[in-house]
Amino acid sequence: MQDEFAKYFRCVADDQGWAFEVATIGWEGPHSPVVNWRVFRRWKRKPTDASIARARAAALKNRTLFRLCELCDEINAAGHMHSASVCQGCAEQHLRVVY
Ligand SMILES: [Zn+2]
Repeated sequence: MQDEFAKYFRCVADDQGWAFEVATIGWEGPHSPVVNWRVFRRWKRKPTDASIARARAAALKNRTLFRLCELCDEINAAGHMHSASVCQGCAEQHLRVVY
């Protein structure tokens, strides 16, 4: 499993079963990202690797969580996007936006 996105996903057990959570990035200031974990899927029993892989794939396609940058063609966490279609890295490089 390719894992540059692993940091955005976690699977936790609680009293209602298992939850697959996705990190969403918010900002308290231009240089202070805050991570909030959002429950994306729930299972009553421990999920299999296949269930987790499906949940990850679905999360990566969810545009409120991840977006494709049209300049570098990479998937970014929505909180790391400069706009709906350009990531912050490209905004800095190509659009001369300074963070
Ligand atoms: Zn980009």
